[in-house]
Amino acid sequence: MASVLKVRPRSAKEIENIASEVIKSFQPDALKMLMSFDVEDFFEFELKDKTDVEPDTKDYPEGIDGCTDFEEMKCYISRRLMEHRDCQVTRRRLRATQAHEIGHCFLHVEDARHSREFQQKFLNDNHSSLEIYNPDDLKAYENPEWQAWRFASALLMPEHCIKRAIECNWKEKWIKDTFDVNPSFIYVRMRELKISRPLRKGQ
Ligand SMILES: [Zn+2]
Repeated sequence: MASVLKVRPRSAKEIENIASEVIKSFQPDALKMLMSFDVEDFFEFELKDKTDVEPDTKDYPEGIDGCTDFEEMKCYISRRLMEHRDCQVTRRRLRATQAHEIGHCFLHVEDARHSREFQQKFLNDNHSSLEIYNPDDLKAYENPEWQAWRFASALLMPEHCIKRAIECNWKEKWIKDTFDVNPSFIYVRMRELKISRPLRKGQ
């Protein structure tokens, strides 16, 4: 079982608010209209400026899409994803990965930077930043992976925007094309927001 690192607990609401602030600073229209957030440009051109974490690519085996290394202050995306982004499914997976890693940068870098203990752990464990815990022992809100995924959902599909689309009875295809995400990402978002209404299928 993979270990995860314990970080400062954050509520879903707090994470949603941080994601909203990021959208507001870079692409405020994405909070007002139903549209995709340009996460690729944010990752490439804004991340370093906003968080001091430098974006980069790296060769990873299948199954690893990205990694944020707080010791190096670098955020790596799998080269395989970048090279195959002409495929729509891969590009949407890339977008979700970038959003997730941006989440780590906004949510966890400050913790690492302000705690000598965290930094020590980094130096010892390379990719590890904080204490290593078994995921089963963590409540979701303390789990950095849960936090980063929640951030990614909120960044690519702001709560009131996805709710509006569903209230308007949008089809799954319209939602995925508008927010530029894969269907699994939509269903995760709906579970997070406790939306049980089934989506219409078809073109
Ligand atoms: Zn992660």
